[in-house]
Amino acid sequence: MIRKTLYHSQSGKQNQNASQHNKQSDMRIPGHRPDKNRGQTATTGAKSQDRLDALINKATALDVHKAQTLNTSRYTASRQNLRIIPMGGVEEVGENLTVFEYGDDIIVVDMGLAFPDETMPGIDYIIPDTKWLEENKRRIRGVIITHGHLDHIGAIPYILPKLGDPPIYTMPLTAGFIKKRLEEFGLLGRSRINVLSKDDVLALGNFKVRFFGLNHNIPDSIGLSIVTPVGQVIYATDWKFDHTPADGKPSEFQKIAKFASEGVTLLMSDSTNAEKPGYCMSERDLGLTIDRTFSDIKGRIIFATFSTNISRVQQVFNAAAKYNRKVIVTGRSLVNNIEIALSLGYLKIQPKIIIKSEQAKKYPDNQIVVLTTGSQGEDAAGLARIARGDHKTIKLKTGDTAIVSASPIPGNERAIAAVLSNLTRLGAHVIYNKILDIHTSGHAHQEELKLMIALTRPKFFMPIHGEHHMIVRHAELGESMSIPKENIFSLDNGQILEISSAGTAKATEDSKIASGYVFIDGLGIGDVGEVVIRDRQVMAQDGMFVVIMTLDRRNGKLVNQPDIISRGFIYMKGNDDLIREVKHEVRKLVESKGKEKLEPNWAYLRNVVRDEIGEYLYQKTERRPMILPVVIEV
Ligand SMILES: [Zn+2]
Ligand SMILES: [Zn+2]
Repeated sequence: MIRKTLYHSQSGKQNQNASQHNKQSDMRIPGHRPDKNRGQTATTGAKSQDRLDALINKATALDVHKAQTLNTSRYTASRQNLRIIPMGGVEEVGENLTVFEYGDDIIVVDMGLAFPDETMPGIDYIIPDTKWLEENKRRIRGVIITHGHLDHIGAIPYILPKLGDPPIYTMPLTAGFIKKRLEEFGLLGRSRINVLSKDDVLALGNFKVRFFGLNHNIPDSIGLSIVTPVGQVIYATDWKFDHTPADGKPSEFQKIAKFASEGVTLLMSDSTNAEKPGYCMSERDLGLTIDRTFSDIKGRIIFATFSTNISRVQQVFNAAAKYNRKVIVTGRSLVNNIEIALSLGYLKIQPKIIIKSEQAKKYPDNQIVVLTTGSQGEDAAGLARIARGDHKTIKLKTGDTAIVSASPIPGNERAIAAVLSNLTRLGAHVIYNKILDIHTSGHAHQEELKLMIALTRPKFFMPIHGEHHMIVRHAELGESMSIPKENIFSLDNGQILEISSAGTAKATEDSKIASGYVFIDGLGIGDVGEVVIRDRQVMAQDGMFVVIMTLDRRNGKLVNQPDIISRGFIYMKGNDDLIREVKHEVRKLVESKGKEKLEPNWAYLRNVVRDEIGEYLYQKTERRPMILPVVIEV
């Protein structure tokens, strides 16, 4: 699902940063476009949340007054065009957030997060930069959420409060997941969550929004027909066409056809699997595979999947019931989601089929299924714990079979491989995607994508949801279906598709719209910027090297020998010579430069030491550790 390229800017502000690495130009990551300043801009920390809330409330109150005296003549021509801005989700799989703007009205579709890759040490999540939305929050008429996956709802608790808690509109299961998430963040009750049915029509300012059911690997996934003054937009979020889905509800083809008969100005559609030929496997075929697998296994079954994949969970319960197995559910998110799905009727299970792990002793191994998370090799999830032997209640033993039902998200392959190896070391038999087709994707393959284009016959086409190469492949499919090339728009995050009432469309940019990433590290939102990430990358690669100089404040002379601390760079004990030479170099530098400029913070001296010692170490070792010069005045 998630790959991320970290963009880095060369702005002067960052160069002033004290912890700036002395060779930042070496830190470019291949494959990114250096032309845009991608710096993240939000600076809100969780600790300042209360202050932020107060500010938001004040700002909202002010905005009300402004709204009453608003002069419509200040609308520029562009306000009479429909502007569609993907703030995230078109350069990556994840952090989906799309803005629709016409006149004074804005609606937002989805608010997702993305997971970091190995170039972002210590980062938990990434969310889109919503500064522009925050500045225009008074105009937001509503937030529509298409389904309950984290790449569509995950950023809600981080972003919604900054937008003045606008109302959310969505389907029942998605609403259940959102409420649970808001509750975990202590934000429940601030935004109105409007639960709709698929046949409702929503009027939000200049927009009229209608819904159609789409298949995905979570129930209640909806596509949108957004009727605007310049025509109809069909928004097909994550979807596939499945005639025999696990919940028995196929996509609403007749509704798509009916909306299409009114004319479609623009189709926006999921590109995740645009490189895969043919059709996506039906959930029913997968159900048969799970059934067959269960019938063959004699011992315990450990089944790992995504906690939001309610369709898969349903199939596991079906097979468990058929083969007379009880189910132990482990993992907080899985327990939560099953509870929500059960209470809303999206999951049908036999009474008493779920048991607590303490009750397992009462049953023979061939009557037990352990349902858990961690199919991506996540360290803290149930499967990895079981595989390491440190799960609280589940101890693996010979005769167990672990089934991992998910395709690896790019970047997670090694973590998954490690978990699989650990499982086999502990004596388990392992079944995963490569051995058996145990997972089917929730995203349309090429033939389904073509069918969507054929059904909607759009004038303009904008592939969404995917890395750039997926989006381009989807654009090519559109071309092969005779949509003129100039009517197809493959945008980057933050770019704008502008459609006029005269029926013309063009891709534009607006310097006011930032499109960077906001990094979330623990409880902090956006308090970790690219500089911090780059520091972490440097330290992870070549370690750090601290030079401590104790100086006499009157004459800038060294009071005693410089001190050196090295972490993750070289082992000090075996490198006495190098350390001695470095100390000698530092002495020389202080003697020649220290007196030059006596200044309170010794910034000049520290810069010289950082540059010179960095260069010296590179010559000796061909490594570039982060150099931290520290001056102590006495
Ligand atoms: Zn999804
Ligand atoms: Zn998605």
